[in-house]
Amino acid sequence: MVERKDFLIKEINRLRKEKDAVIVAHTYQIGEIQDIADIVADSFALSKYCASQKAKVIVFCGVNFMAESAKILAPEKMVLLPERTAGCPMADMITAEGLIEMKKQHPNAVVVTYINSSAEVKAESDVCVTSSNALKVIRAMPEKEIIFAPDKNLGAYVASQCPEKNLILWDGYCPTHHKIKVSEVLEIKKLHPDALFLIHPECTPDVVKLADFVGSTKEIIEYAKQSIAKKFVIGTEMGVMHQLKNENQEKTFYLMASGLMCPNMKKTTLESVYNSLLNNVFEINVPKDILIRARKSLDRMLELSK
Ligand code: SF4
Repeated sequence: MVERKDFLIKEINRLRKEKDAVIVAHTYQIGEIQDIADIVADSFALSKYCASQKAKVIVFCGVNFMAESAKILAPEKMVLLPERTAGCPMADMITAEGLIEMKKQHPNAVVVTYINSSAEVKAESDVCVTSSNALKVIRAMPEKEIIFAPDKNLGAYVASQCPEKNLILWDGYCPTHHKIKVSEVLEIKKLHPDALFLIHPECTPDVVKLADFVGSTKEIIEYAKQSIAKKFVIGTEMGVMHQLKNENQEKTFYLMASGLMCPNMKKTTLESVYNSLLNNVFEINVPKDILIRARKSLDRMLELSK
């Protein structure tokens, strides 16, 4: 087992040099993947990294919509997703056709779409956001009437922070974050009364209300690092615990609930990264017309979040 792991890491390092590849990993990936990645970050930081990438190949350890976003931002690169079936159930809760219908019902609204969506849906949007920059982007927009898709929980959080905007929410959600219940939060707060509760805005509004801090994975990591507090309850996907524990060894972190795991984010393994580099699989391509229109919404996000 150890021998196989050592072999895989050695081969991955050899192949990434030989193929001029970078390995990018989302913070929800398993620890072994985070340890070999050139960058570990949230969707926003990974988008910026891919947009300015010099390497010829990007191996994206994450889920499909992230690899698609990398391809849209770096169309001349070969973008590989090591696990073909790593998708996002929230991204699958909206289609371009459904969004076109909603736009017809609200002809004066602009469309702000969470990056957790397909290229086709991005192509029907005016601007994309991530959980790191949603507030900044929406505050910077002059428009007041906004269709926000697909995450109704992130949308509700943004609406609560921007009362001057009128957000019309698509009925989607992240199954991993959505399942955290108020009763569970109250229970864990009772168990660890001296811990701060840090939560992701993909959680439901009644759970978000109980938080000491609300932020994206990157913001949660930064907050925990800078805080003088010593104990934290973490309300986001378990992958974030790897970085939190590695970078704050004198602090204690409790995961909100043991099942706080995105199965799709856990599909990528050292074996699949090795296979991906060796055989150039699974290459992500986006039809040119969709790529051009989706690119506009991502470019506008990068512009407004400067
Ligand atoms: S954690 Fe939620 S939003 Fe992220 S990939 Fe998994 S299902 Fe999608």
